[in-house]
Amino acid sequence: MSATPAGGLLELSSVSKRFGSTTAVEDVSLTLRPGSFTALLGPSGCGKSTLLALVAGLVHPDAGRIDLDGVSLLGAPAERRPVGLVFQKPLLFPHLSVLANVGFGLRVGGAGRGETRRASLEMLERVQLAGLEQRRVGELSGGQEQRVALARALVLSPRVLLLDEPFSALDSELRATMRRLVRALADETGVTTVFVTHDQAEAVDVADDVALVLDGRLAGHGAASGFWSAPSTLAAARFFGVVNEIPGQVRGGVFSAQGWGSLPCDIRDGPGVLVVRPERLVVDAVPGPGPSVTATVHEVRFAGTHLVVRLVRPDGGVLVAHPPVGTGVTAGSTVSVSAPPDACTVLVRDVAARD
Ligand code: ADP
Repeated sequence: MSATPAGGLLELSSVSKRFGSTTAVEDVSLTLRPGSFTALLGPSGCGKSTLLALVAGLVHPDAGRIDLDGVSLLGAPAERRPVGLVFQKPLLFPHLSVLANVGFGLRVGGAGRGETRRASLEMLERVQLAGLEQRRVGELSGGQEQRVALARALVLSPRVLLLDEPFSALDSELRATMRRLVRALADETGVTTVFVTHDQAEAVDVADDVALVLDGRLAGHGAASGFWSAPSTLAAARFFGVVNEIPGQVRGGVFSAQGWGSLPCDIRDGPGVLVVRPERLVVDAVPGPGPSVTATVHEVRFAGTHLVVRLVRPDGGVLVAHPPVGTGVTAGSTVSVSAPPDACTVLVRDVAARD
């Protein structure tokens, strides 16, 4: 195929967007490296689609800048931006063939018939639709339709590819296949990719980086694994699933919680919360290193790859641990529960901690 230019450096600086009285995006600054693959993650209604629409030029920000390789995109209308878009609904032309759908943008952009055909056929091969080029899109499965939508976006050699929950209408096995395809295509072409999803498992499966959006604001951006091991806010920790929250106080760089002992930390004095994921809590007869507490085993469930153990502390607080299968733990027994220091994150308690 024709050489695709490498992905662009996409920079959003203090971008805000309101719709009437609704603030959809609030002061978002986000830099995406050329060729990076980022999951834009957050619950429904948090502003993910609006962020994509701002980059694509479908809506205009009230404030802020959006630059590609240091040049503002804001003066350019959507059709002039080197940005490819794939939505949950493929929005193909039903009366046109697969080949004509893929080549449509090239033709509109002034490419010749022969060049359009060659580039479109090549792209169809890359999305594994070779042989289906004369089919009408109405005769395709949902997965095939999304392959056409991907081919249609990528054939234009965009610098940035934006995917808005592209596979959420497909069943889970096909979704996984499509994620692998999109990831392989992004890696091959080097296009800077943003993949919107509300599903953290999907985000970490497809992307290297995660940009977490909560209530229109950027709540964290970095390697996907960091959101699990060292979240930067309590809201981010909660979005990544079950965490144990141990409320306490921070004084002079030391966090302490009643019954647990203390732990050095680097947050300001005031209410703090120790968060530790269930799979990192150690349940044993004797305390391990790090903060620990005595608790009574309330329930033990087998979950295939691990046990799910619910424990109750003497003060009534509940803990959840996911020790390996085979851990000798029985309901009604009293055990030590320890949080290894490298599994502990102390955060500012800016919202009510759960117990
Ligand atoms: P997400 O993609 O995370 O589900 P959206 O970006 O679609 O979130 O929406 C963010 C907020 O902005 C929501 O409250 C939504 O109702 C509102 N919103 C989005 N687009 C419009 C619009 N065109 N007009 C009015 N409100 C909108």
